[in-house]
Parts: sequence; C-alpha cells; structure tokens
Amino acid sequence: MKFNALNFSGGPGALPETVLAQTRDAIVALPDTGMSVLGMSHRSEWFRSVLEEAEMNIRHLLGLSSDYAITFLQGGSSLLFATIPMNFTARAAAAPEYVTSGYWSAKATAEAAKVTKRNIVWDGKITGYRQLPDLRTLDVAPSAAYLHYVSNETVEGLQFDPCDVGDIAAPLIADMSSDFLSKPFRSDAYSMIYAHAQKNLGPAGVTVAVIRRSLLDRIPDGLPAILDFRTHVLHSSNYNTPPVFAIYVLMLVTRWLRFDIGGLHAMQRINEEKSKRLYATLDALGDAVTIHADPRWRSQMNVSFTFGDKRLDQAFIAAARDHSIVGLEGHRSVGGLRASLYNAVTEEAVESLCLALNEFAVQHV
Ligand code: PMP
Repeated sequence: MKFNALNFSGGPGALPETVLAQTRDAIVALPDTGMSVLGMSHRSEWFRSVLEEAEMNIRHLLGLSSDYAITFLQGGSSLLFATIPMNFTARAAAAPEYVTSGYWSAKATAEAAKVTKRNIVWDGKITGYRQLPDLRTLDVAPSAAYLHYVSNETVEGLQFDPCDVGDIAAPLIADMSSDFLSKPFRSDAYSMIYAHAQKNLGPAGVTVAVIRRSLLDRIPDGLPAILDFRTHVLHSSNYNTPPVFAIYVLMLVTRWLRFDIGGLHAMQRINEEKSKRLYATLDALGDAVTIHADPRWRSQMNVSFTFGDKRLDQAFIAAARDHSIVGLEGHRSVGGLRASLYNAVTEEAVESLCLALNEFAVQHV
C-alpha cells in the first residue's frame, strides 16, 4: 500500500485506499454475489445496478439534469478524438474549431483533421505551450460544429478555470481526462465532456462521456454502430461487452467521492491545498527549479517542473524513491519531472514530496 499512497504518476495513478481494499476483496468474491468481480456477466442484474449507481453518482456530483446522457465507453480518450468529429460534423453548417494548447489537444486537433476539415482557433505551440487563451474571447462562429478544448493539459501542467467558459454560441466540447471530478464546474455550459478513468476515476479501460441529448440529433446515419454515440446511449453502455471490472472500480471511486469526501466542493478544497503547498515549495527553491506553466495557468492536477539538468532530475527521482515516492518522471515529450496530484493523492503524500524536495535541494543545488 505504501507505493500507492505516494504515487504521483500522470496516470494510471493512485486510487483511494478504501477503494483498493474493496477491489481486492471483490476479486475473490463480491459481498453481494459470492462471485469474483472478474467473472461477473455484463448482462447480470448486479452489473446493471453498478452502471446505474456509477451514473447516478456522476449525475449527482455534477448536478446534471436529464438533458444529458452519461455513457461509459472503451477506446480511451484517443478514440473520442476521432469519433467526436465523425459524429458531430456531417450535419453542421461550419467546421469545428480546435484550441491547441498542449500535447493532448494537439493530438485531438491532428486526429480531427483526418476525419474532417477543422479550424484551429488558437495555437500555443510557438510559445512552447506555457499559456492558455481566454475561452470567452475566442473568435468562434456560432455555426461551427463545435469548439473543442482540453481543460487540463496533462503533459505541460496547464489548466483552464472550469468556471470561466463564458457563453460560447457553438456547442462546447471538453476533454477533461485529467481534471474531471477534481472540482465543481458549470456543467450546463457544455454540450459534451469526456474523461478516461485512469486519472481521477479508476483504472484504465473505461472513458466517461457526458453528452447533451439534443446533440445526438446531429449524428449522421450510417456510422458503424460501435462508433455512433447513439448506440451507447440507447443500450445504456451495455451494447457489447463493457469493461465490467473497470466500471465497478469507477463506481466505487464515485461513491467514495460522493460520500467519503463529500462532493466536488470538498474535493476542490483538498486539491487546492495540495497544489498550493507544492507550488509554494517549488517557488521557494527559486532559480534551482523551473516550472513549465506560466503562473496564471498552473494546473492543480499536474505540476511539470525541472531542476534544469537531466542528471539532477534523475537524481531527484532516485532520492524520492527512497521515501517511497514514485511516478515523478516527466512525459516523454517534454522530459523533466511531473508530480500529478489527482484526487486520491493525499495531503500527507504531498507533504512527503515537499520534504523530499527540500532535503534534495539542500544537498544538491
Ligand atoms: N487527453 C488527455 C488530457 C490525456 O491526458 C490523455 C492521456 N494521458 C489522453 C487524452 C489520451 O487518453 P487515452 O490514453 O485514454 O487514449
């Protein structure tokens, strides 16, 4: 359990200890059925109730009305980079608009171009993906198929303020893979939100997609059934065999968030404390450390930084491991270090990381 508790990985990452304990027991036998969760049928009453509870918990946490459908999909967020333009551009008057603000939104933008004509409404590449635009001031045509952006750039450590989206006339679609359910946001401003599980929601293998029902009318006929979002809404996320295990664990995490943590406002307070503590420690190290994001856009979820020297970064990874701290390697595209502070990373874990940073700085920089 020690390494889980101090796992700062970019994802898959730490899970709540209570969820891990329940999962361990469920692998042998689920309390209600006496069967292993790994052998449960996706057509069982038990699984139907798991899907229903997962959906209900998310609906409750976000305050979502019945105008929205919640689906549990496979193929990760990467499949959605392709299926979103496949589903929502054919019947639109104008091309979709993409904000390209980091590694993952650049991927989404590139994938969309293989499916449709699309516009880039803002591109942060020339400034090295250190800043984000103000969504409210972007020049988006109301007739655009949609505006797509990534709410938290996992690699660079940049995060939009989720409450600051304004009222964009085109349907707003957000990849929230790395900050979904980490704090409250104005869910009614969005036409679609999606997030894979392996950051804040559970193990890899399932992706949550929240879709405004009216948007489903824009889907053209003739798409392969598995790629058509209407299929998953119609079949309550049980069209083909879903990842039963991953959805079960996700349900436990949403239950933990709702009843143990006490909802998204409580989660936000904890996440704010964690990120404030870590950024303050890094800032106090002065020139010894460079944080990738400009201060205004620093992410509460992913803190990308470097000691400015590959050997020092590697030495810190080794030193942190002596404190049972793992998962600090930066993404392969930018290198350096990254501490991910997802929901299940505790304040105590962040405290240990800060102590390790200070100890290392005294000895090495
Ligand atoms: N979007 C974001 C913001 C991500 O962080 C990632 C992966 N870390 C992806 C998309 C790709 O997700 P997947 O591996 O589920 O396809």
